[in-house]
Amino acid sequence: MRYREFGAIGYRVSALGFGAMNLPGVPYEQAEAALNYALDQGINYIDTAAGYRNSEEILGQAVSHRRKDFFLATKTAQRSYDAAKAEIERSLERMKTDTIDLLQIHYVNYPQEYQSAMAEDGAYRAAEEAKRQGMVRHIGITGHRPELLAKWVRSGKFDQTLFHLNLGQPFAARDLIPALKEMNMGRVAMKPLSGGFFQPVEKALRYPYSQDVHVIISGMVSVEEVRMNLAAFEQEVEEAERLELEALAGQLGAHDCRRCNYCTCPIGIPIPDVMISSRLREVYGLLPKGDGFYQKHKDKFFSCADYEPCREKPLCEEKCPYHLPMATVVRDAVGYFK
Ligand code: SF4
Ligand code: SF4
Repeated sequence: MRYREFGAIGYRVSALGFGAMNLPGVPYEQAEAALNYALDQGINYIDTAAGYRNSEEILGQAVSHRRKDFFLATKTAQRSYDAAKAEIERSLERMKTDTIDLLQIHYVNYPQEYQSAMAEDGAYRAAEEAKRQGMVRHIGITGHRPELLAKWVRSGKFDQTLFHLNLGQPFAARDLIPALKEMNMGRVAMKPLSGGFFQPVEKALRYPYSQDVHVIISGMVSVEEVRMNLAAFEQEVEEAERLELEALAGQLGAHDCRRCNYCTCPIGIPIPDVMISSRLREVYGLLPKGDGFYQKHKDKFFSCADYEPCREKPLCEEKCPYHLPMATVVRDAVGYFK
């Protein structure tokens, strides 16, 4: 596996990072074994968030005794100074550590949210203060709109950015990574499997590995999953494979949905998941998880075309900053059942 200097942060990070978001969903002993196995195998980056249920507590219990073995990244989705300060203190306590290596301002998708977090009484000031006090070493930002993140990081206020990068969402490669490289910032990609939709799994993991990022966070919950992820990172990606993966990402990402979540559907259709899986469904078919998702929402997909308030103008499309044809894509999804 590749290790690289983490931008100007100066820590040598493993290309595969441990995403701890789903650990609260498995028995504690399983989570503990997966985390320790990952560290034993040389994974040295762990990513969690204050908002991932009791994920931080699990980390505190399972790996705080070997704190020097890993770079610890967590997040606060609070926007105000007071709430973020309290949350940072709670994160330290839950993770049984004196220092968070990287505190990310979490899930910033709207310009208004960015302004709130960066205001005088905003979350960023709490992060900066914690940094001065030695409780936080570096500050990062996460979000789902690569072109906005590219603009925000030019403020010079962040050391790292976390963004989507997978075969179905390759947009950061064009809209964000060049800006991060220019600023010598930490580049961390998340959701390589887009929540379990993407296949073949090995190809899906190798696409972000082929790109110029430092760490790829993969959500893992068992020793077996750690092994499977590690296998995909064994060999470096050669030029021919990279070109093949980029061509595939161009094809599977042609829906253009960034998962910004600006759109909502009154009858509960999870539009971003339909958008992002649309090309995959056509090219490779769906994995059991994807099939389960389509079966679960089948009736809603069929209702979309007849939903009266959307007849003249689809309500969802009014919200999309990229002007995407979501109603057409949702209505095409009924073809999966024919
Ligand atoms: S067009 Fe379909 S997906 Fe869009 S808001 Fe209306 S019912 Fe929902
Ligand atoms: S369809 Fe448009 S508004 Fe909805 S998540 Fe995708 S990019 Fe955002």
